[in-house]
Amino acid sequence: KADTSKYLMGGPMMGFEIPDLAAPVIKATNCVIAGSPTLFPPSPPEMPCIRCGACAEVCPHELQPFELYWFARARNFGKTQEYHLFDCIECGCCSYVCPSHIPLVQYFRFAKSEIWSREREKQAAEAAKARFELRNARAEREQAEKAERLARASTARSSERKPASAVASAAVVEAGVSGALASEPAVASSAVDADAQKKATIVAAMERARAQRAAVQPRNTGQLSAQQQREIAAIEARRAALQAESPPDTVTPPERAAE
Ligand code: SF4
Ligand code: SF4
Repeated sequence: KADTSKYLMGGPMMGFEIPDLAAPVIKATNCVIAGSPTLFPPSPPEMPCIRCGACAEVCPHELQPFELYWFARARNFGKTQEYHLFDCIECGCCSYVCPSHIPLVQYFRFAKSEIWSREREKQAAEAAKARFELRNARAEREQAEKAERLARASTARSSERKPASAVASAAVVEAGVSGALASEPAVASSAVDADAQKKATIVAAMERARAQRAAVQPRNTGQLSAQQQREIAAIEARRAALQAESPPDTVTPPERAAE
């Protein structure tokens, strides 16, 4: 109609204004009212609650709308639930009789929507927490399974490697023994060389001492008889023979032999 200024979905007391006719018709839609200023004059300004109790008298659910109003206005939604906010059927009787023109039903709807919104957020947070815990549990389970697989693989590898390592250790021992055996001739040869050098040094020293003694000590063999000379020659021959037969290390130094 020409004077239509708003549209209400629902009855004149319980209905609520819809912003656009493009809003869908739902299962709970019982009617759509084309409102006009004549039918729905502007509400008088809201006044403070005087606690007259008229709202409580008309409530079909025997609620205390003025208490619900105070708690909803203070955003104390817990208290509204304690006063059975969700038992309110939003009939609008309390708002209709309120002498202070307080839109009580709008306050109650606001409180309900806030509680539902917080409940949805809480459920979403709990679902996210559950997903997080499940994810952590799955990650821990996967880590445990991976560690178990790695442990099994390591055990299998170590059992496979054991003979090889034994062979390797045997090879190492064998190599050590062969190395020792190989180095032994070298050590022995070096020791023999050292002994030979030592013996050569001793022999040279003996020769030098004999030569010095021969040069220093006069031979008092000039007046010897022929018999004595033969005995001396025989002794010298035996000594020479003994020196020739004796190994160099067993050669008695002339000084010690003389002693
Ligand atoms: S009817 Fe209005 S003024 Fe009276 S107690 Fe209820 S809310 Fe307050
Ligand atoms: S709107 Fe709710 S509180 Fe007000 S009279 Fe109806 S049931 Fe009671």
